[in-house]
This record gives sequence, C-alpha cells and structure tokens, in this order.
Amino acid sequence: MKTGVKDFTECAMWGALSGLALKRNILLEVVNFKEKIGTKGKINGVIVGIEGEFYILIDDRVPNDFKFEVLAHELAHYQLHHSKAPSRFNVTKYLKDKDYRRSVEAEADEFAERLISYVRHRMLPAREQQ
Ligand SMILES: [Zn+2]
Repeated sequence: MKTGVKDFTECAMWGALSGLALKRNILLEVVNFKEKIGTKGKINGVIVGIEGEFYILIDDRVPNDFKFEVLAHELAHYQLHHSKAPSRFNVTKYLKDKDYRRSVEAEADEFAERLISYVRHRMLPAREQQ
C-alpha cells in the first residue's frame, strides 16, 4: 500500500472496506468532527444505528493513511455488536461500565485486524499467493 496518500479514497484498502459497508447498506461519511459534531478529538470514528439504518462517520482529521483502520474498526462493531437482532450491544452499559467498554473495543480491534489481513490477502496479485 502507498504511504502518504493525498486522497485516502485512492487507497485500495479503503476501496475494499467501503465496498463492504455499501454491501451492508451502511452509509459512510467522512466529516470534520470538530466542526460538525463538536467532539474534542478523542473519537476517530463512530457507528450509529437509527431505526435499523446504520451510519459510519469518520473524522476527516484522522490522517489519510489511517482512515481505513478506523473504517475497519467501525465495520467490526457492526459485525460483532449491531448486525444481529437482538443487538449484543448495550449502549447504557457501554457508557457507564469501563470494563464492558474496554472489552467491546478490544473485540472490535481484534476483528478489525483480522478483517484487514483478510482483505489484504484477497487483494494480493495471484502470483504472490501461496
Ligand atoms: Zn470502537
């Protein structure tokens, strides 16, 4: 993968992951969190479900080379915590219980890592595959 990409949408990994979001009817938007939401820069991305519709928002200020990792993390939350009904995710507990929050985030990080290596493997030219 290229480093220092000016346009993150040219990143092949971003392309593959945003394709996965599209397939799941998840609306994906990259916005400036400070201007649009007023967050103080601790949150890189978020997934929100409203009446069965899902939205992934990613902070525009996240470095371009890192945006796909945030996307993979939010897709992991979707897959692990939101895609099945009833939802495995307890929003009240998430906000109140630090341990629960940590375990939910660790699960998402681990899943995101596997997702990225899976997609990376699929993107390799055939001759490089074993
Ligand atoms: Zn998370």
